Amino acid sequence: MDLKLSDEQRAFRDEVRTFFKENVPDDIRETMVESGHPSKEQFQRWTKILADKGWGAPHWPEEHGGTGWGPVEQYIFLEELQAYPAPAPLPFGVNMVGPVIYTFGNEEQKQTYLPRILDLTDWWCQGFSEPGAGSDLASLKTRAVKEGDYYIVNGQKTWTTLAQHADWIFCLVRTDPDADKPQKGISFLLIDMKSEGITVRPIQTADGGVEVNEVFFDDVKVPVENLVGEENKGWDYAKFLLGNERTNIARIGMSKHAAKRIRELAGIELAGGKPLIEDRRFAEKLALLEIDLKSLEITQMRVVADDAKNPNAKTPNPASSILKIKGSEIQQRCTELLMEVMGPYAAPRQHDDYLGHNEPPIGPDYAAHAAPNYFNYRKVSIYGGSNEIQKNIIAKAVLGF
Ligand SMILES: Cc1cc2nc3c(=O)[nH]c(=O)nc-3n(C[C@H](O)[C@H](O)[C@H](O)COP(=O)(O)OP(=O)(O)OC[C@H]3O[C@@H](n4cnc5c(N)ncnc54)[C@H](O)[C@@H]3O)c2cc1C
Repeated sequence: MDLKLSDEQRAFRDEVRTFFKENVPDDIRETMVESGHPSKEQFQRWTKILADKGWGAPHWPEEHGGTGWGPVEQYIFLEELQAYPAPAPLPFGVNMVGPVIYTFGNEEQKQTYLPRILDLTDWWCQGFSEPGAGSDLASLKTRAVKEGDYYIVNGQKTWTTLAQHADWIFCLVRTDPDADKPQKGISFLLIDMKSEGITVRPIQTADGGVEVNEVFFDDVKVPVENLVGEENKGWDYAKFLLGNERTNIARIGMSKHAAKRIRELAGIELAGGKPLIEDRRFAEKLALLEIDLKSLEITQMRVVADDAKNPNAKTPNPASSILKIKGSEIQQRCTELLMEVMGPYAAPRQHDDYLGHNEPPIGPDYAAHAAPNYFNYRKVSIYGGSNEIQKNIIAKAVLGF
């Protein structure tokens, strides 16, 4: 297996790097460096730039408006994008529902939705999880009953990321409650968020932010043409989608950027009168993080090389579960080390509205996001299939237990 980039791939990397340097707006890069949470407007502006370049959906086939790149080019693109750093295309459209629509949807759905995903005309959110249906997703209860030309949808979704901005939600709904297996009676519906009967209620997270929501459906009328594929086959499409979600989750470029920043700031912040980076115990922790990150990168390249050999594989490489686990652990360690760099300056810099105070913050501006990000990143070992569930997948699919 050749893990080295070819001359063409190195030239491609240079092209991508130069494009980011010349085209990522300064304010968007600054937001990514400081908090990593771009606003809706920043997302829209940046996606338009990517779409104009033809890079709105790096992994889509060309016939649907994608780049047609192979796994190695896709990997290089994402790695460079995260390391710059710039926002990755919003996953709910580009990584999740888009591939479901072009793989299982009908011609009209492809024509209607795909172009609007590419330039973020439509902001999508993911309506899978429910109270009582997370890891055990097949126990979902949101009900869709066919009445004439409509499904009438009732129920509740939860943890719906950025639903407050969404134009559309793709949902798993139960269409046959009497099916002999819970997985069998589920369908995949596309629902306009402006439909009457939808209520979005924000959930405030430990970092003080609002990125997840509850979404309630109360007699929501959904045209039957918004069904993707066949009725009661939604579980197959969901498995396909979740496989795609997992392969993009290692975020090596992002952790590389974070590790570089930790090193830089630990050279500025003092501990015992000396830069923290000169503290032996801290330096060892950072070195260990960098070594683990390098190992993860090599594992990722092995998976990418494997994918390049099997471009038509229909199921995700089970090794991507390893990437999810290690990738999320490393992202969390980055936030922990950054807290250590900031020391006491991190504490008072939580969101003002969270603590409800109006005192001017102490410490440097770059300390502002250390604590919120530390709390926020507890999420990465939960979403996209929790790390415990990934270990079950490795046990079954990789080790054969
Ligand atoms: C920040 C954030 C954003 C999210 N965004 C979305 C979104 O946009 N759309 C959406 O649909 N969902 C979203 N989710 C939901 C996410 O997919 C679920 O939280 C996740 O699948 C876990 O489900 P749960 O929260 O119900 O926990 P549970 O499934 O109840 O799990 C609780 C604990 O038990 C463990 N556990 C459960 N089953 C097993 C098992 N068989 N073996 C071993 N351990 C087990 C889990 O690992 C976990 O530690 C998001 C979650 C978070 C935190």
